[in-house]
Amino acid sequence: MLQNFVTGVIAVASLTVVACSPTDTSDSATTASTPDTGTSAILAEDHFHPKGKAPSQYTLEVFEQAKKTLPFDDTRDFDEQEKGFIAAPESWQIMANAGNVAWDMERYKFFLEGKEFDSVHPSLQRQSTLNMNFGLYKVMDGVYQVRGFDLANITFIKGDTGWIIFDPLTSEETARAAMALVEEHLGKLPVKAVVYSHSHGDHWGGVRGVVDEADVRAGKVEIIAPRDFMAHAISENVYAGNAMNRRLFYQYGLLLPASPFGHAGQGLSQNISIGNLTLIPPTRVIEEDIEELTVDGVKMIFQNTPNTEAPSNMNTYFPDMKLLWMAENVTGAFHNIYTLRGAPVRDALRWSKYINRALQLFGQDADIMIASHHWPRWGNDRIQEVLRGQRDLYANINNQVLHFVNQGVTINQIHNIYETPESISRQWYNRPYHGSPEHNSRGVVNRFIGYWDANPATLIPLSPADSGPLYVEMMGGADNIMAKGQELHDAGEYLKAQEILNKLVQGEPQNQAAKDLLADVFEQIGYQQENPGLRNSYLSGAFELRSGIPEGAQIDSAGPDVVRAMSTELFLDFVGIRMDAREVGDLEFTINLITPDNGEKFLIELSNATLTNIEGFLADDPDLSITINRSDLEAVMMGAKSLASQIEDGTAQVEGDTDILGQLASAMVVFDPRFEIMPGTAGPTTEEALNDYEVGALNVAGE
Ligand SMILES: [Zn+2]
Repeated sequence: MLQNFVTGVIAVASLTVVACSPTDTSDSATTASTPDTGTSAILAEDHFHPKGKAPSQYTLEVFEQAKKTLPFDDTRDFDEQEKGFIAAPESWQIMANAGNVAWDMERYKFFLEGKEFDSVHPSLQRQSTLNMNFGLYKVMDGVYQVRGFDLANITFIKGDTGWIIFDPLTSEETARAAMALVEEHLGKLPVKAVVYSHSHGDHWGGVRGVVDEADVRAGKVEIIAPRDFMAHAISENVYAGNAMNRRLFYQYGLLLPASPFGHAGQGLSQNISIGNLTLIPPTRVIEEDIEELTVDGVKMIFQNTPNTEAPSNMNTYFPDMKLLWMAENVTGAFHNIYTLRGAPVRDALRWSKYINRALQLFGQDADIMIASHHWPRWGNDRIQEVLRGQRDLYANINNQVLHFVNQGVTINQIHNIYETPESISRQWYNRPYHGSPEHNSRGVVNRFIGYWDANPATLIPLSPADSGPLYVEMMGGADNIMAKGQELHDAGEYLKAQEILNKLVQGEPQNQAAKDLLADVFEQIGYQQENPGLRNSYLSGAFELRSGIPEGAQIDSAGPDVVRAMSTELFLDFVGIRMDAREVGDLEFTINLITPDNGEKFLIELSNATLTNIEGFLADDPDLSITINRSDLEAVMMGAKSLASQIEDGTAQVEGDTDILGQLASAMVVFDPRFEIMPGTAGPTTEEALNDYEVGALNVAGE
């Protein structure tokens, strides 16, 4: 699912501090035209924010409708989630090495109160209640899962002499806790192999919690991964990493307290863990489309499924157990084609085809199906039902969206037109707990024809800050917009209200009354969402409009495993992104970079205010030549040491003009992970805050 763990974990860690700093809440529900908001919305009792509102009658109507139309009498998920339960952990919290709480189920206990919350979509509440079943589960003889210890599941397959572990969670700490629960109830066995099902960090980051790298080096533990795993585990997150981090705060609601008014589960599980992200590279890469391998007596048939839910991905069939592992290709949710945090749009058709292939190859035979999120499916009928349902879900959105596109429907309309057919959408496992028909349908359009709707008026549009004031003027000023915005809000016409209030906020970023009213509108739209990413984004927008972007402190950094996994080329590419081209003037140079310990060489060139690099070439007469072992360069990549200090102490040897490093360094920008999304929400950015937020990994010339 989420790919941005390289830097994502850093940002996640940062806001735990501020997430739990609600100001005083109102003591009772009051109907008010309060002076600070100017809205007639009802303040909500127990809301974490003093300006937080109760769900409106229109929001309640949406929920009533959902209760009538969704198949709440289909309770098979509850049976499947509970089946085979062995034990829950004693503590509902898992501490991180850094001292913070890495994982916290305690926060979501409100889902066990048996209440119907009227600020959470009933379907999302159902899903989050299901996700409160957590602990150690027996899937079948020799197959166990620990669920609800992190965003993903960790799966244990018993071999002749030890465990084969599938997907060791996000954090070393949560994986270790899962392993401890297994050992407590099933006894101690050595780990013989770890399988990474795909390149997303929630499926490998905890590997050091279950194996010792020395055992991997000694050949006692195999690490198995799909083809191109290492290339994709890190690279997807670097180039736009800071932007992805910032957007992660919206998609994952990292500022929102866990609350019926705030974060109400993440669909795939309750949340992501905040611990130590580790990585041990695979010792065995599955290269073939279909490849069979027996490890510790367990026969496995791997099916590579590249460019589906992740660029590097694979399913596994265990023929002797009639057990099918569908990785994250088939879970109990409609997954992301487009991920709100930002990532290249996925290929829904190819995804569907790989599910179909698994259905034909293994699905006719399988008795149990498991995956890296959610619960198992027992019985061949159920397995075939879910595989077909998910196959059709992804194929339908691809085909039907393109059907509309070919009739002129644009990216600005498709989400209001495309609907998942009822026969597909009435199955719980196809509900929008991660992707949604709205944002996924726009993703499909974007994948095939891009962002432009072909209307010349949107070809070179004004920036919002320039169009906002024009609209405000033409609509007769702020008072008019506020009055109409209020009227639309009070009539439950939230999408229309957001349309005009957004123009006002763009035009007048310091107009707090406008921001408060837009926040009220966002809040109602947010409550109404079944999809956690949409809900969190609206509620996060409301939070920042009301209070501004909070300050936060950092408690983690890109770990050594992640930096080690980053190629030098990727690092140099990112240096080129960090350099502000406007600041280098007509500076030109060539640098030869040689890393003897891994035999690589790079020609780095600054010309035309652009920094490029090419591997395998050197300039005949460079301005500067740097020789440093890649293992030492990693200290620079991590931000632990500067290149200048390594030159000084002789770790790096240089020949030529070292002044150019200083010149380059002065053009390097530290990206602010608190950049403004909604206008007028940025707080003061202190130097310390910036340093704290810095992805230290990418500090080229030091200073
Ligand atoms: Zn995942």
